[in-house]
Amino acid sequence: MSEDLWILEEKQAMLAAIIMSSDDAIISKTLDGIITSWNPAAERLFGYDAKEAIGQHITLIIPDDRLNEEKFIIRQIASGKKVDHFETLRQRKNGQLVPISLTISPVLNSKGKVIGASKIARDISARQQADEKQARLAAIVDTSDDTILSKTLNGIITSWNKAAVRMFGFSEAEAIGRHISLIIPEERIDEEDFIIGEIRKGNKVAHFQTIRQRKDGSLVPISLSVSPIIDKNGNIIGASKIARDISGEQELYRKLKEINAKKDEFIALASHELKTPLTSINGYLQLLEQRISDKKSKDFVQKMRHQVTRLTELVDDILDVSKIEAGKLKLHKAEFDILKVVKNTIDLIANANPGHQLALHTSVKFCNLKGDEHRIEQLLINLLTNAIRYSPDSNKVEIFVSTEQDDVKIGVKDFGLGISQEKLPNIFSRFYRVDDSDTSVSGLGIGLYLCYEIVTRHHGMIWAESKPGFGSTFWFTLPIKDS
Ligand code: ADP
Repeated sequence: MSEDLWILEEKQAMLAAIIMSSDDAIISKTLDGIITSWNPAAERLFGYDAKEAIGQHITLIIPDDRLNEEKFIIRQIASGKKVDHFETLRQRKNGQLVPISLTISPVLNSKGKVIGASKIARDISARQQADEKQARLAAIVDTSDDTILSKTLNGIITSWNKAAVRMFGFSEAEAIGRHISLIIPEERIDEEDFIIGEIRKGNKVAHFQTIRQRKDGSLVPISLSVSPIIDKNGNIIGASKIARDISGEQELYRKLKEINAKKDEFIALASHELKTPLTSINGYLQLLEQRISDKKSKDFVQKMRHQVTRLTELVDDILDVSKIEAGKLKLHKAEFDILKVVKNTIDLIANANPGHQLALHTSVKFCNLKGDEHRIEQLLINLLTNAIRYSPDSNKVEIFVSTEQDDVKIGVKDFGLGISQEKLPNIFSRFYRVDDSDTSVSGLGIGLYLCYEIVTRHHGMIWAESKPGFGSTFWFTLPIKDS
């Protein structure tokens, strides 16, 4: 074998290997369109193996509505021209269409005559999907009502959507390439260091409420969310920002606050006005009770007084809530013996509820602390009354008093309905009532809220332990030294 022939054979073997291992489909055909070679990538892409394809007409893989393309391609090739990156659709054996990019070159014989064509077909479905995704994202960014922009880690703006143009007054051309300080008021420029610092650490900054500046110098309150932009290799290369104009929300919040304050004012006034006639009714009922000797009538008047007292308590509670809301609940602190208050309150509640047994467990003889005695008594009344009200089938309540380090700890334990675990965290919230259809106990959901306020205003803690069906224990602590 001559050396030239040997080199030629080696070259041919190398070409064959390249064709066999190529990721692109490589096909050759005659000028009449008859397939003459078909590599493994073509098998994978179109689903026909080489035996099925070779000898067939190329229309095997051309969808009916694209047959004209073949005429155009053959004309180009016959005149010795190449067709480069021609994006089209071809059909797989299973009928499925596949987007491809075709590059077709004429095959010449030794005399330079075109005898066929070689085709390289690249599957571009992944790229097309990526393009589509990008187009969809671009449309979202474009139509968003929120400002969406991106910037480098040095703060240079790299994209600026239509909403940003509307919100800040700078056109895309005016903003891109400029530093983000373009829209940051001077006194807030430090915020950018904080935001970029977080981004560099790979953190997001969410719902950061701040103020930015428009082109005309006016200020706009915004809620900012900033996320790192990460490249293919996992490097943080910039930040994307979403900014929402919250001037409308702030105005709404201000209005709601105003309405809420007016409502609290009204409740305070109404409760105050209700108290005068209630006190007067109670006084007249007391006088009436003294003058009546008939036992039945006396009984009626006592029942009426009981109801008036209940009504007065409710009005007092509502008045207290509005005072708390307005920050006007005043504590009158003085030194008193908490144990005496506990004992007196137990007597008071026991007298009003003769069917119930209230047992005090303590080894403490006395315990002086500084606080508002009247409010602590109110707290105990609320807890003891609840223990009785929410125990329809039990007549036992236990009260524990102990001292622990610098605190006095008091517990009120009942054996009633109990409260489920998921409801427990809410029971000290204002107007919260455990919605239990088994109970017919009415209430406003104020008592425990007041208890919480009274305890925390004395720098103590309050919590509850409970198991549905087995009762509840409400605990609170108060500091002995200075509550
Ligand atoms: P009210 O009793 O007026 O509804 P509270 O603030 O005193 O309001 O109590 C809030 C809710 O907590 C009550 O609706 C009740 O469901 C629950 N609760 C309070 N104390 C007890 C208790 N001892 N046992 C079971 N549930 C209780």
